[in-house]
Amino acid sequence: MTGTSGGLTNWAGNHSYRAGELHHPRTLDELRRIVATARSLRVLGTRHTFSDIGDASSLVALDGLRGCDEIAIDHDAATVTVGPTVTYAQLTPRLDAAGLALANMASLPHISVAGAVATATHGSGDALGNLSTSVRAMELVTSDGELVQIAAGDPELPGAVVHLGALGVVTKLTLAVIPTYRLCQRVYVGMGWDALEENFDRIMGAGRSVSVFHRLGERIREVWVKAAPEQPAPTELFGAVLADSPRHPVPAADPLNCTPQLGVPGPWWQRLPHFQAGFTPSAGAEIQSEWFVARDQATDALAALRQLADRLRPLILVCELRTVAADELWLSPNHGRDSAGLHFTWRREPAAVAAACAEVERTLAPFAPRPHWGKLFTARSTELAPHYPRLAEFKVLREQFDGRRAFVNRWLERTLAL
Ligand SMILES: Cc1cc2nc3c(=O)[nH]c(=O)nc-3n(C[C@H](O)[C@H](O)[C@H](O)COP(=O)(O)OP(=O)(O)OC[C@H]3O[C@@H](n4cnc5c(N)ncnc54)[C@H](O)[C@@H]3O)c2cc1C
Repeated sequence: MTGTSGGLTNWAGNHSYRAGELHHPRTLDELRRIVATARSLRVLGTRHTFSDIGDASSLVALDGLRGCDEIAIDHDAATVTVGPTVTYAQLTPRLDAAGLALANMASLPHISVAGAVATATHGSGDALGNLSTSVRAMELVTSDGELVQIAAGDPELPGAVVHLGALGVVTKLTLAVIPTYRLCQRVYVGMGWDALEENFDRIMGAGRSVSVFHRLGERIREVWVKAAPEQPAPTELFGAVLADSPRHPVPAADPLNCTPQLGVPGPWWQRLPHFQAGFTPSAGAEIQSEWFVARDQATDALAALRQLADRLRPLILVCELRTVAADELWLSPNHGRDSAGLHFTWRREPAAVAAACAEVERTLAPFAPRPHWGKLFTARSTELAPHYPRLAEFKVLREQFDGRRAFVNRWLERTLAL
């Protein structure tokens, strides 16, 4: 079935899809035919990116595809295989009911696993890689209509996992799983910047997953700590005091939308994301950006950004600092270095945000910043290419999987000169 994408926007409403047609294949053979004959094609995920990364002259939605929402657990292999439309909101309770878990999650469960993995979506945690690092195998339809399987041990896997939509239509992903676990979430309010600078490792290591929320202000607003129930919970964290009521990271937003806090133990999937499935995550009318720097340069990079506070703050809803462990995925922003993610949730003012992004990028340039692929940034391929040591190999892989350039869209041309 084919229609138009007329009026379709991304979740944030700051990008209107330009695609002239939207396909809804029902079978794998139909999908293969669509892919093999499309001039320019992209998969429509859950649309939680903030740019034209997922746009092309044709789009394909996989929600009518037979098996698109399948979840197959393999206890012996400690893996789960998911269809292309499965979201973390669908997957995580199923895993927990089977006594299993994911190592980490993003701030929200609303997003598709396939779309999250494509852009190296991440959570926080010194010892935890981004969500793409859990991929053990993938199946995709390449632009000649061929169905390709890539498994652990295949030399292509580390190159293909963070694919930015450039290699084909992913129809299955196999993820590593671990035994289920419980966490408590606590929020600490009002830390000084000097405390973070002096005790960075102890603060970011205060739990399994730690997020620092601020607005480049005089003080840090909140530190969210997600820790094992057996871990002792101090009433004070380097000058920040334990919140006695639930919080939302965005000032004045309703904490009802957030996962339970106040130290109440609960399953991993109801504590790792900040926002609950079924509720609006974050602010809604917003644009997001994020840049990764080496973890050991996080406080220097934040100090540089704080110099821009007066100019940036009118646009900022909230900023978040998270840590991500290094990995070997070719296009991962965390490739080869333990990273700190410096995130901005901006007001939805696209022109002003684009100017602010350019200013942030100039300020962070000494720190070799790598942008979050799914969020908004302005850097072009000439500035970005030096930060990705495996980019040349990815270009060879792209040529191998998509020799006729059906998946190369405008975003890929300007971002990576693919
Ligand atoms: C409120 C909010 C909170 C967020 N929180 C976080 C966070 O905590 N951490 C973080 O890292 N990011 C976060 N993000 C960013 C976002 O989750 C990621 O950018 C993610 O890529 C979105 O996936 P999607 O499927 O919704 O996006 P889409 O734009 O639909 O897809 C992303 C890309 O993947 C491609 N794609 C999707 N499915 C397939 C497939 N089956 N085969 C081939 N290509 C495919 C698309 O074509 C597109 O290029 C957040 C975004 C929002 C709106």
